[in-house]
Amino acid sequence: MSKVKRKVKVIKIDVDKCNGCRACEVVCSAFHATPKYSSNNPERSRIRIVHDALKDIYIPVYAGEYAKAECAGRDKYVIDGKEYDECTFCRASCPSRAIFKEPDSGLPLKCDMCEDDPPQEEPLCVQWCLSDALTYEEKEEEIEEEEQPKEMEVSLGSLIDKFGLDKVTSAVTRMSQKD
Ligand code: SF4
Ligand code: SF4
Repeated sequence: MSKVKRKVKVIKIDVDKCNGCRACEVVCSAFHATPKYSSNNPERSRIRIVHDALKDIYIPVYAGEYAKAECAGRDKYVIDGKEYDECTFCRASCPSRAIFKEPDSGLPLKCDMCEDDPPQEEPLCVQWCLSDALTYEEKEEEIEEEEQPKEMEVSLGSLIDKFGLDKVTSAVTRMSQKD
């Protein structure tokens, strides 16, 4: 099996440096508004800050894969004396919670690393994070050619399973007409 190189984009999150300013949510939601930069509703953001000011907890979380069902786990984590729910660190859009769902359509959101048109050289949330809680790097890794994930097919299949073909088709048609 032949090996291919692929570029891997990584955003490092330094939780200790996050001050909860939510600038990352503002710029992400504006970049993904239709038309672009016409609004800045944080509910449209692919990064959300899970926060509890009284406990000095600010956790940036990126929207990851859509999950059809909620998980059964409700573990607690205690880190440096602060207690966190398991959901705090989870990237999934799932039925258990309100975040990472597009507010108009209810469709799940996923971070696209700002590759949407026009693609950004560096993710906007990183550029707008003035406290350096978010930093960006690229690296190369070798993978077996056949192991490359068919991400778009998997995501589309999940969406159609949940919302039905008609709703997904009409959402895509609506989005393509707005631009
Ligand atoms: S911009 Fe940076 S400091 Fe502000 S909330 Fe987002 S991650 Fe935290
Ligand atoms: S990388 Fe881009 S799409 Fe992903 S959360 Fe940051 S601003 Fe949003």
